[in-house]
Amino acid sequence: MNTTEIKEISDKYLFPTYVRAPLALVRGEGCRVWDADGREYLDFFSSTVVTSLGHCHPALVAALERQARAIFHVSNLHYCEPQALLARRLVESSFADRVFLCNSGAEANEAAIKLARKYGHGAGDGRYEIITALGSFHGRTLATIAATGQEKVRVGFEPTQEGFRYAEYGDVAAVERAITDRTIAVMVEPMLGEGGVVVPPDGYLAELRALCDRRDLLLILDEVQTGIGRLGTLFGYECDGGESVRPDIITLAKGLGSGMPIGAMLAREPIASSFGPGSHGSTFGGNALACAVASAVLETIERDGLLANCSAMGERLRDGLAALVGPGSRLIATRGRGLLVAAVLDEPSGPYVDACRAKGLIVNSTGGNVLRLAPPLTVGAAEIDRGVAILAEVLAR
Ligand SMILES: *Cc1c(COP(=O)(O)O)cnc(C)c1O
Repeated sequence: MNTTEIKEISDKYLFPTYVRAPLALVRGEGCRVWDADGREYLDFFSSTVVTSLGHCHPALVAALERQARAIFHVSNLHYCEPQALLARRLVESSFADRVFLCNSGAEANEAAIKLARKYGHGAGDGRYEIITALGSFHGRTLATIAATGQEKVRVGFEPTQEGFRYAEYGDVAAVERAITDRTIAVMVEPMLGEGGVVVPPDGYLAELRALCDRRDLLLILDEVQTGIGRLGTLFGYECDGGESVRPDIITLAKGLGSGMPIGAMLAREPIASSFGPGSHGSTFGGNALACAVASAVLETIERDGLLANCSAMGERLRDGLAALVGPGSRLIATRGRGLLVAAVLDEPSGPYVDACRAKGLIVNSTGGNVLRLAPPLTVGAAEIDRGVAILAEVLAR
């Protein structure tokens, strides 16, 4: 089928819940993708910051094929080797003691919210409120739209799940003011992703940690977008202005499976012990295919030194963009960490996404005036330079 045919069928039969560009991708390899009409593009969006190792990485294809020949799915009433190996790898490479596996970012956050409440009802004197950030994004389920600090995702779905309060992002004093005698946790993203690629001040997470210690609160980090190497460290909590901060709970999804649907909620003891048999569950959570691929993602990041590549290529991208800032360009600033980068324009960025696509570069618009750039951790210098060259043309006045 060509793009027009795919688009026609999709527009007729799917709920129109997404604003889609007229682009149907049918094949990918590393940083390159091809549409249904045979056109090639450079992918600086990684299919919504998901394909962390690029498209169809050979190590992931091999892991998926191997697992598909063995067994697709094992009930959570039985044991599953790929689950066991992934959980061990996640614990051994993080702050955490336990892992709950699920299928998406919203599900991982639901698990984190439930764990915080369960802990609150036990050791936490019945406290249940969670403070989140204005401008944040935590998912589209009923609890995660309540957690999300953006009014627009809740409109029309009231009554909203209660138990959430909001504070300005990057402002620890605002979080402190939002604390009540019902507060059990603070939940933030190490960097705002959907909310416009916003980097908080250095020390933000460390100060939140200190505040949480002082007021006996849990620190939950939504690392659905920042986790799995995206910021140049395996987890976003490791790069709070060069320092590492110890959270109590984190959530992962997007990059964890590099395209296989998987999410995870990680917690340390004694908080993790609040979940016992029957506390929470998911039929597909910890699916064998997804876990086999996620383990291969983590193994490949380590084996191929992709954290160092992410830092170096992120710097190259930001340097390339910084050189464009000036009167001859629409670009007024660049920000970000690792390979989660914002190109800030002096007007709405939406039309520039289309202009980039017309020149063979896929990027994303978020937060009004921002182009979000998130090439895979495997991206090379020549690809970064080509992307920057296309952006230079598109953003020229
Ligand atoms: C994408 C995202 C989510 C939601 O993940 P889904 O897999 O779409 O449910 C939650 N939090 C953050 C920070 C995200 O970027």
